Amino acid sequence: MPDRRPSPAGAPGPVARPTPPSDTGGSEDDVAVALIAVDADGRATYANAVFLALFGLETAELVGRSLFEIWPDAKPCDRSRRDGPDRLLDREGRTRRVVWDRIGADSRVGTIALPAPRRATLVVPPLRLDDLTGLADRAALRPVFATILDRPRPPGTHVVAASLDLDRFKRVNDSLGHAAGDELLRQVARRLSASIRETDIVLRTGGDAFVILFASARLGSVEDLAVRIVEILSRPFVVHGNQVIIGASVGLASLEPGETDVAELLRRADVALHGSKTSGRGCVRWFEAGMLEAVRERRMLEVDLRKALRLDQFELAYQAQFAFETRSVTGFEALIRWRHPDRGLVASSDFIPIAEETREILGIGAWVLDAACRTARTWRPSLGVAVNISPVQFEAEGFVESVRGALAASGLPAARLELELTETVLLSDDARVIERMRALRALGVRLALDDFGTGCSSLNYLRKYPFTKVKIDQSFVREPFADENAHRIVAAVAGLGASMGMEVIAEGVETVAQLHRIRMLGCAAAQGYLLSRPIPAAAIAAYLAGAGRRTFERSRGNAEGVVPDDLD
Ligand code: C2E
Ligand code: MG
Ligand code: MG
Repeated sequence: MPDRRPSPAGAPGPVARPTPPSDTGGSEDDVAVALIAVDADGRATYANAVFLALFGLETAELVGRSLFEIWPDAKPCDRSRRDGPDRLLDREGRTRRVVWDRIGADSRVGTIALPAPRRATLVVPPLRLDDLTGLADRAALRPVFATILDRPRPPGTHVVAASLDLDRFKRVNDSLGHAAGDELLRQVARRLSASIRETDIVLRTGGDAFVILFASARLGSVEDLAVRIVEILSRPFVVHGNQVIIGASVGLASLEPGETDVAELLRRADVALHGSKTSGRGCVRWFEAGMLEAVRERRMLEVDLRKALRLDQFELAYQAQFAFETRSVTGFEALIRWRHPDRGLVASSDFIPIAEETREILGIGAWVLDAACRTARTWRPSLGVAVNISPVQFEAEGFVESVRGALAASGLPAARLELELTETVLLSDDARVIERMRALRALGVRLALDDFGTGCSSLNYLRKYPFTKVKIDQSFVREPFADENAHRIVAAVAGLGASMGMEVIAEGVETVAQLHRIRMLGCAAAQGYLLSRPIPAAAIAAYLAGAGRRTFERSRGNAEGVVPDDLD
């Protein structure tokens, strides 16, 4: 018979358990009791969770066996050995004194009084663990929650659930492979476990979803902690040698007095998580009743979006781009519109994020690429077309092939196609991104960096990646931002871009003053409502024949007198 005595230094056993209560801290009446019951033959019939945690045992290892079998060196309290041992070595090698009482004719109960630590460790029944991260898994939710509800809670504290979801995790999985995704999840689990208190518990409830249960939290501090967790998870990870930047969104919900339903608590936390994701990633939001309506809305939109491609509900609008030097339209940016049967025209910003999340964007993006190339093929050869590419699309397998396919099917020369990428694409694995960009450049396609200046844009991006164009974001052109700083940034981007042979275009130009300003700051081209709103493909010929030219001409002779001489 092997020695089954728990090894001294807290042998973890197959199931990671919470640390047993220690002897430090705690008030006199704040005492945890480890309890074991034995039958007439001294065989264990029951042990409570505190006992199991203290000795690092599982119920199955204990029940039915004599305690002297498990602790062969233990001394009996009485000769008959009907009581168990008077002292036991715990999983940390400490001696614990057992007091035995008779219960009824045959049973005896041994108790070990343990002063609870100041921050009482949450004692939970043995949990099923997630193989990947070693965290408790979804099946553990109910038992953990039951334990939490059982505990007395200091006044002013609440049971709180935080539902957490990683941002951009799928992109890592898709671009670096599943093994890297798994490794990232393990690292996330470690950061999460290190961030919470011993009284809280973190579970992995699915894919990249985690739940943290706070047994007794003050609402303000739990929110602070959630914000800190988002910050911690936004720091770079190194996965298989690649630097990876993800992020996290968190939804928080607390249990109202008298409520005991864990499913409802989690549902609210999930709803809050949705709210947090729609208000921009990397946020923490508390559950609010109004969110349920928003979620219903979104679900409906999701369902409709799934059918939209099949029902031919998408169309493209085209917005002209002007070059100062030639004072002419050089091409159009294709912007998707969704003609919804009940909602009317849905703006891209209202459905592209949903399509990205559900990955519908793959089909939609392929359609856009195809339709834009076919339309551009009918224009005069000097006109190019710019197509927005979602990061999800860019990173998907076979993207370069799909671009090649769209060009071949439409007969559009590659040089007339420009793909607009946002800097989120650049946040994942460098080498793969560059390789893919080079493959696209090798096709002859041009690449524009869209919305430059909105994220953590760095001028380095312009040096590092093979872009042919940079699009300065609208926010640098608009009034509130049109201050000295914005000017300096625009001038710097324009200068660097030009010196590297990149075209620099400013987006969102709405007024003549803005047009002149960006021109003076060194931008070579402009796009915006002043010059043209996005228009249907069918209106392009008429637009080129007259209106566009006139708008541009008019803008040259503006009344403010800031027209630089060389514009004429
Ligand atoms: P974006 O690529 O930066 O496109 C420019 C957005 O600014 C367009 O909004 C355009 O209508 C709007 N805009 C242009 N000039 C002005 C102006 O002077 N003032 C103002 N206020 N707005 C102006 P839209 O069409 O709603 O598109 C929003 C974003 O949705 C786009 O930003 C792009 O990131 C994305 N998007 C649009 N079409 C597609 C698509 O086919 N595929 C993908 N993946 N994303 C798309
Ligand atoms: Mg764009
Ligand atoms: Mg843009």
